[in-house]
Amino acid sequence: MRRHLLTLSVLAIAMCFVVWQSRQTLLVYYLLSTLWVLPLYYFFKERAYGFLVFAAAAVLLLHGWFFRISPHPRMFGLWLVQALLFSGLCYYRWELKRLQDRAQEAKENIRKSLESFQAKYQTRLSSLRHLEVQVASLMNLFEIARDFSECMDFNTLAEFLLKKLRTELAFEKMQIFLLNQGSAEKKAGLPKIYSMLSEGVREEERALTESERQDFNALEQAKGMVRREEVWYFPIFEGKEMSSVFAIHGIKEEDLARVEVLSAYLVLLIKKIKLYETVRELAIVDELTQVFLRHHFFERLEEELRRSMRFKLPLTVLMLDIDHFKRYNDDFGHLVGDATLKEVADLLKRNLRRVDLVGRYGGEEFVVAMPETRVANAVEVAERIRSNIARYDFQLYNVKTRVTVSQGLIVFDGEAAAQLENVNVKNLAVELIQKADQAMYRAKEEGRNRVCLYKEAKKS
Ligand code: GH3
Ligand code: MG
Ligand code: MG
Repeated sequence: MRRHLLTLSVLAIAMCFVVWQSRQTLLVYYLLSTLWVLPLYYFFKERAYGFLVFAAAAVLLLHGWFFRISPHPRMFGLWLVQALLFSGLCYYRWELKRLQDRAQEAKENIRKSLESFQAKYQTRLSSLRHLEVQVASLMNLFEIARDFSECMDFNTLAEFLLKKLRTELAFEKMQIFLLNQGSAEKKAGLPKIYSMLSEGVREEERALTESERQDFNALEQAKGMVRREEVWYFPIFEGKEMSSVFAIHGIKEEDLARVEVLSAYLVLLIKKIKLYETVRELAIVDELTQVFLRHHFFERLEEELRRSMRFKLPLTVLMLDIDHFKRYNDDFGHLVGDATLKEVADLLKRNLRRVDLVGRYGGEEFVVAMPETRVANAVEVAERIRSNIARYDFQLYNVKTRVTVSQGLIVFDGEAAAQLENVNVKNLAVELIQKADQAMYRAKEEGRNRVCLYKEAKKS
């Protein structure tokens, strides 16, 4: 713009000089007037076609109007008007461009803020979606947690947890540690551990590893959730004592909130199952001797009888009574008597297999059912029990004592019974116990501390 104005000024000065020199006024004027095409070219170059047309028309009009004018002052007037006109137009054009630039700038600013707003909106939207996914997953967890309440034992719970959470959470393994289970006497026993691995549930009774022991010590101190490397531990306390621990290995940080929700349910559920198992145990296990109560022994014996008939297998029923226990109680007191009963039950269990059933029939009488055991084996086992008890030194409450037991045996022939029709298993169980009892009484009659077989009484 400035460059063009400078050109125009130079041209005007040059023209004045030429006119003044030549005196050929009109001719020089017309020749030089064509130079006004230059400013027109400026509009053409700027693509301001409207201005170009307007300026060209104005120049033609002015020239037409001043066609007959010859005197110098008027000619200068014409140039002055032309110069003013172009200057005005150029200024107008320049102002317009400035406004356009400003508008462009404002537009650009609006576009940028719109873009940033859009980006923010997208971020919010995606976080909202993330939140939606989280809520859905939490709802799912709540559903799962609600279904948990149907699990009444740890094995079912472990299977259920594994099945349901596999799709919900990414984890390496989960574990439930039952640290001090059962009654007071059992507390010294090994912890029971349910491990939920990708291949399934593993149930084991083992001592804690050194690192587990350290982790659990930290848990006991913290009295709450603790993270040890890749493992998150959730402790369960019964009073002041830590009774169980739920552990989850290798979860992602972002899943932790969900695991916490889940663990809150699990902690309650583990407590409930423990309580349920204690109640169940109290209902079937004798508190003093930790063998089955009479009614539960009968239920289990009936099951075994059915099984032995189905598979045509023998089953031995044994009745055991401590000799002169009344006198024993009188001599050493009931406390020693109770402790002796417990030790006799322990000795009995130690001499039997895991599949054998032991029950407390009453007072100081025990019943045993040995599946798949024939006469020879049964007598051998009974004899072993008898001699082991008779040789055992009971050291209770600073009293060193010995006891003997009398036993009666009966072997049930599953194969023969399977031939019979309409066998009443309940009656059969009662009958077998009675017969074993009779054999046991014969052992008493024959001098105690011996084993008698039903029918053909046999001395040990
Ligand atoms: P035997 O069987 O050799 O004929 O003589 P016994 O003295 O053992 O006679 P019996 O079986 O009739 O006596 C049972 C005694 O066992 C009565 C009771 O003093 C004792 N007894 C029963 N239950 C318990 C118990 O839970 N604790 C203790 N300490 N004693 C018991
Ligand atoms: Mg007795
Ligand atoms: Mg008795």
